[in-house]
Amino acid sequence: MRVCPGGPVVRCVRVCCGRGRWRVCVPKCVRSTWAYTHLLARSLCYNTLTNWDTVNDTLFEPVFWTADRLTRLFGQVFVCLVVVLTSSIVLIAYMVLLPLVLHTYAPWWIVWHLCYGHWNLLMIAFHYYKATRTPPGHPPTKKSEVPFVSFCKKCVTPKPARTHHCGICNTCILKMDHHCPWLNNCVGHFNHRYFFSFCVFLTLGCVYCSISGRNLFIDAYNAIERFKALEAEPAGVPVKGVGLLIGIVPPEAVNGQSSFQTPPPTFTLKDKLLNKSIIYMWVLTSTVAVALGGLTLWHAMLISRGETSIERHLNKKERTRLAKRNRVYRNPFHYGCFNNWKLFLGVEKRSHWITRVLLPSGHAPNGDGFTWDFYPHRKEPLPV
Ligand SMILES: [Zn+2]
Ligand SMILES: [Zn+2]
Repeated sequence: MRVCPGGPVVRCVRVCCGRGRWRVCVPKCVRSTWAYTHLLARSLCYNTLTNWDTVNDTLFEPVFWTADRLTRLFGQVFVCLVVVLTSSIVLIAYMVLLPLVLHTYAPWWIVWHLCYGHWNLLMIAFHYYKATRTPPGHPPTKKSEVPFVSFCKKCVTPKPARTHHCGICNTCILKMDHHCPWLNNCVGHFNHRYFFSFCVFLTLGCVYCSISGRNLFIDAYNAIERFKALEAEPAGVPVKGVGLLIGIVPPEAVNGQSSFQTPPPTFTLKDKLLNKSIIYMWVLTSTVAVALGGLTLWHAMLISRGETSIERHLNKKERTRLAKRNRVYRNPFHYGCFNNWKLFLGVEKRSHWITRVLLPSGHAPNGDGFTWDFYPHRKEPLPV
């Protein structure tokens, strides 16, 4: 850089010419100050983990914060909603479906409906209660021998493997899957099975009601449509005198007794309520069966792979990262599809498929949630 003797000087900045071009020459003291400030800013903001996900998380942090607060605030409301909606369906099933079954079905069909319906209801109620009331499990807050893999900056405690922090519960959860607003509880190591069983049995119950009430729904829908058509018909016009209407008007009108009007609808308030409740039941159960069925299948796929919802996201990122280095990521908690299910359901012998899966069971899950076997250490198949 060359300072032009003839160039204009404005305090500490000079305009110089080099190779026929004019440019601004900044003094060394200004340049060094700027370089120092730039380095300082970059040092303060530098983070090896910074990527677009981090930027997005930071930008959406206020949205997440608001959603967390609202979920925590309305947690009890969601639970009440589940109880009220489920109770209303059960009530309609008892008042409408059950009489129909008892009056029209063959005895063995009646027995099947009574047994299946009550077993399904029992399983839904039991697993929902256990899922909401069972704590998901928390890491120790005091000094212990539990091995940990990371540290929670919010709880200021060590985190064992598979443990994650829940922003809504504001605590760390063992083998956290997600925070469920419908349970007003986190789904973690100790209540994961209850949550999944609840989803399965509620889906089955909705499918059962939807299929059983299909014909009733069609009849009720047609009845409501007929009722609407009757209501839409214009009321009869009073007839005064006979004239051209002789032979058309009814005899009582001809005799000058009264005016002729459209007969009132034959539907009573009870009929209307009955038909509408059947439609409500069918629409609600069919919608829940589809939506919850999809969610249940998703969780079944995760369990088959030995992942939680959070680990699914983390493993996907790790898989992509290692793929760029021509390496293959292997989920360390995937012990094989069948073994994963046996571990998840707590099945240790054949009879447990009935006593622990098909009947209400409050058995604790395998392990304490602090320590985990890492693949491939557990290669041998589990007994059963
Ligand atoms: Zn935490
Ligand atoms: Zn939570």
